[in-house]
Amino acid sequence: MSAEVINGKELAAELKLAMKEEVSELKEKGLTPHLTVVLVGDDPASKSYVNGKKKASKETGISSDIIELPTSTTETELLQLIDKLNHDQAIHGILVQLPLPEHIKEQSVIEAIDPQKDVDGFHPINIGRMMAGKDTFLPCTPFGIITMLKSRDIQIEGRHAVIIGRSNIVGKPVGQLLLNENATVTYCHSRTKGLQSFTKNADILIVAVGKANAIHAEDIKEDAVVIDVGINRVEDGTLTGDVDFEQAKEKASYITPVPRGVGPMTITMLLKNTIKAAKGLEN
Ligand code: NAD
Repeated sequence: MSAEVINGKELAAELKLAMKEEVSELKEKGLTPHLTVVLVGDDPASKSYVNGKKKASKETGISSDIIELPTSTTETELLQLIDKLNHDQAIHGILVQLPLPEHIKEQSVIEAIDPQKDVDGFHPINIGRMMAGKDTFLPCTPFGIITMLKSRDIQIEGRHAVIIGRSNIVGKPVGQLLLNENATVTYCHSRTKGLQSFTKNADILIVAVGKANAIHAEDIKEDAVVIDVGINRVEDGTLTGDVDFEQAKEKASYITPVPRGVGPMTITMLLKNTIKAAKGLEN
């Protein structure tokens, strides 16, 4: 039987509607969530991501602004700007679009953002809070993945989740979130030997590799839940994920497509984090 396709675009639209209501209630109480996005340089992909974030904020009533800085901006100048934003009471969420120009150390910038305003969830304090299972800003893509699983009441507890990919923004945190939900988690990566022996045992398979057609139907278990995080531009210019979707959907129980899968959920979770930042974290 063909898998149920979890449409991230539709789910994101539903979530944004609910958030719009929440934002309007906050505004009535005099609190307008505000997101400031900092863009350094003129990378076209980064520009388009940043504009997408501004558009999505507007849809939910969250106010936002984009601070555009030239590529020549020094690390000290960027850190000074972050310090100013940290102290601005009207700004609840700060996001510095990555990647940064090579002369700026990304980790220094991530660590300079006030953890209470770190809506990307990349600050080590927030990563630590996530590991401890405390209230925090969850990194947006992993948060989106968990939200997709929960939207279909997919059982996580006690199931074997296999993650392919161990990046700091996707692989590592999504494994931690699944562990927090009581899954048994296996991480695979570029040095894993015998990848298929792991993927074939996955009840939940998260694929975040960044290579088109890295995973085929023969790599997955019958009725597995398959979440495809990859975004790859193929020769004809279209976008595709890491999983051979057409084949895999005949074997999986649930599957996410690319596009209209995890991608639209990522921005939506950023908005959720911005609302959370406006309300403040619980201890
Ligand atoms: P990354 O390049 O930092 O990490 C890729 C991971 O894949 C690495 O940990 C590496 O060890 C592993 N890997 C590479 N080749 C492998 C192989 N042959 N077998 C097993 N593992 C292998 O990438 P990332 O930032 O985690 O992103 C992964 C993909 O997800 C990319 O396509 C990216 O564009 C996409 N992405 C999508 C979203 C979204 O919102 N949908 C967000 C972030 C990233």
